[in-house]
Order: sequence, then C-alpha cells, then structure tokens
Amino acid sequence: MNEPERERHFIERILELLRLLEDSGIDVDRLADGSVSHESFTAQQHDLRTALDIISFMDEIPGGFFIYYANGSEDIIYANRGVLRIFQCETMQQFRELTGNSFRGLVHPEDLDAVEESIWRQITASQYDLDYVEYRIRRRDGSIRFVEDYGHFVHSPAVGDVFYVFLGDATDERSQQQMEQKRLLAEALEKSNLAIQAKNTFLSNISHDMRTPLNAIFGYTSLAKLNLHDPDCARHYLEQAEIASHELLDMITQVLDMSTLSSAAGPAEDELDLCRMVEELCDFLLPQAQEKDILFSLDTSRIRHSRIYADQAKLRQLVLNLINNAITYTNDGGRVSVTLSEGDELPSSYAIYRIAVSDTGIGINEKSLESIFEPFTREKNSTLSGIHGIGLGLTIAKQIVDMLGGTIDVKSRVGEGSTFTVTLRMRIQPATIIPRDDTVAVKSSCRILLVDDNEINREIETELLERMGFIIDSAENGQVALDKVRRSAPGDYDLIIMDLQMPVMDGWRSSSEIRALPDPTLSHIPIIALSANAMVSDRRKSQQCGINVHLSKPMDLPQLLDEIDKLVKYR
Ligand code: ADP
Repeated sequence: MNEPERERHFIERILELLRLLEDSGIDVDRLADGSVSHESFTAQQHDLRTALDIISFMDEIPGGFFIYYANGSEDIIYANRGVLRIFQCETMQQFRELTGNSFRGLVHPEDLDAVEESIWRQITASQYDLDYVEYRIRRRDGSIRFVEDYGHFVHSPAVGDVFYVFLGDATDERSQQQMEQKRLLAEALEKSNLAIQAKNTFLSNISHDMRTPLNAIFGYTSLAKLNLHDPDCARHYLEQAEIASHELLDMITQVLDMSTLSSAAGPAEDELDLCRMVEELCDFLLPQAQEKDILFSLDTSRIRHSRIYADQAKLRQLVLNLINNAITYTNDGGRVSVTLSEGDELPSSYAIYRIAVSDTGIGINEKSLESIFEPFTREKNSTLSGIHGIGLGLTIAKQIVDMLGGTIDVKSRVGEGSTFTVTLRMRIQPATIIPRDDTVAVKSSCRILLVDDNEINREIETELLERMGFIIDSAENGQVALDKVRRSAPGDYDLIIMDLQMPVMDGWRSSSEIRALPDPTLSHIPIIALSANAMVSDRRKSQQCGINVHLSKPMDLPQLLDEIDKLVKYR
C-alpha cells in the first residue's frame, strides 16, 4: 500500500468506526467529553467495544486531531479531546457551537482567506496532499491563540473528500517570535528616525551654507554692475564674486562626493606612483600655503615602493582634504608637513603605508575630537574665525579610509597643532612596469580644438584661452569635431578640449572615434574633457573612452593650464 492509500485506508477506517458507534446509538460527540463509559458494553458488543477503544485512543494523543469535509460546507466530522482543550471547550457541543461546526468558523476571520488560499496552493503542489498553515483562533473565553495546522487531504470514493488535521497550540512560541519582531521593528523605526533627522540636519545646513556664497555672488555682481564706471572697484567686486563662486563649487563637489561615496561600488585598483601623486597635490596646494607664509614640507624618504595599486581618485581626495585643512587651520607663518612612510613588506606584495599630515595650527579641543569625523562637525572657533567650510571634508576622508579598509587617527592640542595619520594596506606593483603610452605633442604654439555645443561657453573659453596665447578652433558637437580631426593634417591640433553632453554626437563617443582613427598622429591627440558631469561614473566613462583628463565645469583656468602643460610640451 502506498502512502496516499495508507492514509485513505486509515481515515476510512476511523470514519467507519465512528459510523458503527453512531448506528448503535452511541453519541460520539460525548466520547470526547469523557462521559461514555466503556463498561456499559457487554461482551456481545465486542466490535463496538473495539471501535470505542480505538476512537477513545484518539483522545489520548497530546495534540488536537480533527476531520472535516473538504467540500463546500467544510463541516467538522470529528474532533478529539485535544482540540476541545485548545479551544477551551468542555464538550463537543460547545465546540460545535463556537465554530459553527465548520473549519471556516474555526479559523480567525481575518486569517481565513489567506489560510484557505495557502492550503489549496500547497495541496496542489504536494505529492502527498499535505499542507502546513498557521492561524489564529478564538477560544471560548474570547482569548486569541496561535495554532499550527498540519493538514492532509484525502480523496475517498467511500466517504468523499475530507481533510484530517493535527493541530497544535503554538501561542508561546509565537508570542516570543512576535516580541522579537516587535523589537526588530522598533529598532528599524529608531534607525529610520535617526536617518530622517540626519537628512533634515543635512538639508538645513546645506541650504544655509549654500545661500551664503550665493548671496555674495548676487550682491557683488550687482555692485560690480553699479560700478562699471570705476574699473578697479568693479574688478574688486567681481573678484569677490569669483571667490564666492569657488566656495559654492567646492560645496557642491563635496556633497556630490559624499553621496557618490555612500553609493559607490568597491575601490578601483589603479596603477599609481604614491610619491608622485602626493608631490603633485603639494604643488597644487603650495600657492595656498605661500599666501599664508606657511612653511610647507613633504618627506617621502621612507618610501621604498612608490609604485602601488590603489584607488587613485579616492586617495587623492583623501590626502587633498587633509592637507587643505592643515593649511586652512594654520595661522600665517606656521608649518605644515606631510610625511609618507612604508612598513615592512607583507605577504602577497602588500605593505602598510602611513600618510601623516601635521600642522602647527589652531588645534582641536578634546570634545570636538570625539565627533570630528561626523558630517557637519565644525569647531565653533573655526566658524567664528571666518574660515568657510561645511564640515564634510573629514567625513569624506573617513568614508574613503573605511572604503579602502584603513584607519585614520587624529592627535591634536589647542593652540599647538594637529596630526592626522592615515594607515592603509596597499599592494606594491611588480618591479617591471610597462611605460604608459602618453603621446606628447611638441609645438611652439599650441593649437586647440575646443568642442562645446553651448555658444556662450565656446565664446568665454575661446577668449580666455586665446588670451593665454593658444590658437583656438572650435566645433559645436562631437560629430563636427570628429570630422575636423579626420580632415586635419598631423600637427593641426595639439590638444582637444571636449564637452561631454552634446547633441548629434556626445563627447565620449567622439573621443572613442578619434582614438580609433587609423592615423596614430591623429588618434593620439590628447583630449581633456571639460564637463558638468562630475560624478565618478562619468570620470570612469571618460577614462574608458581614451580621454586623458576629466575636468569639471565651471572651468578652473589655472587647473586647465596645468593639465595642458602636462600633456603638451612646447619647443
Ligand atoms: P570644514 O573644514 O569644511 O569645516 P572638515 O570636515 O574638513 O570641514 O573639518 C571639520 C572641522 O574640523 C573643521 O571645521 C575644523 O573645526 C576642524 N579641523 C579639521 N582639520 C583641522 C586641522 N588641521 N586643524 C584644526 N582644526 C581642524
């Protein structure tokens, strides 16, 4: 006999016994109440006695057991004493009244639809017509319990379609689960409230901090317009507006950096020269230090392997933020020193690198030190001292260090200075390094193809660059640029400055097409992207399209000149 047959046989046998008892005038319902005495049967009634014993045995099992029709009525045929106990009924009569004698009346109305749907879904999918459901029931005293229901569907030509069910009270287990769920929910709610709070603080800070330079831009531009008759005065106002514009740009960049960092994928593995990178950063920041008469030094003597693999953009930003702060928060005539050091080589060509940025600046008090890496943390004295900033630089630095799997520490004393130390484990490049194919044009005067769809931008950039002595040709989209390069003779263009988002053909596509030109003197023309797309993914795309440098708009002329200088050598 296979499993379903055995089941059918079992249930048919029970129903047969029940019928036998009923036909002999025995009130089966009263069996579960325990009010029928076995002794009342004589020896002649042997069959009946056996039936009675078997059915009574069903009352001894610890859990609930019941049978109901699987047709539309879902009437309950039989329930053992365990079921009565779960429902807190003393008699079968009470149970039938409480449930309306049907499975539908037994399940809590709010759970019924889901339970029925689940039972039929499982039965249809199950080889042995089994199902498992959990639902609430209401006991006779009105209290709610959770039960587990192991159901079996039996199709019997003899008795019709029925379900027989083993029922267990799982309330204690459930309430524990519910308590756990409640705790998790409360925790999630608290977290989301904190996130909302953080977002609100962020928005109010950012809108306040952005309005400040924006007001200055508006104010100084109006003043400049009113003073056009006095060029010195107008220039002064425009310079002030320019400073405020830079400040606003820095803020937007920082906010963008922070949001991209929190959503960014893992760090990149660029080949880079650590010492060279930090040297370049120091060169870049030197004028700022010189303006304040700060003695600025860089020590790379303890680096044995400068060529490493690391996320260049992130590492640059991290070091830049620290040096920038050191200069910002150091008074005129102070000292800022940057020290790189390398620990012993670890297995698999890794080594521990330390980057320490020390200054003799204003220092940070102990209390502020505790939350210095939190967003928008600004020491009061730095705000009062008129130093602008929004308090994201160190948050970004910390996020980068976390992303790179390192640590950042700070030691500081008010009035004496601060030292920020970053420790990172980085992989050393193998000794043989293939030189990069950076083609450099050699010219006496540099010819630039300027590609931008915006006429005003083209006009401003052309004028600024021509004043710097460059010879400018322009194109209004990527397609025109490509055609011009294709038709050009070698040497006609030493450099291309490429906007990215343009109609007809964008700057990325145009650059890829230029890189694919058969004539190497044309396909190797250096390209600088100058674009409003400042996201990391855009920079990556530029890299993939063979663009040498990706600068963001608005154009920072000294930075652009610096890059041109690196890419184009003059005779
Ligand atoms: P921001 O400089 O834009 O305010 P940061 O996150 O870079 O934001 O720095 C947060 C605060 O930490 C600064 O406002 C300043 O009070 C303090 N701080 C950071 N670096 C230094 C430093 N080298 N010396 C003194 N204070 C510093």
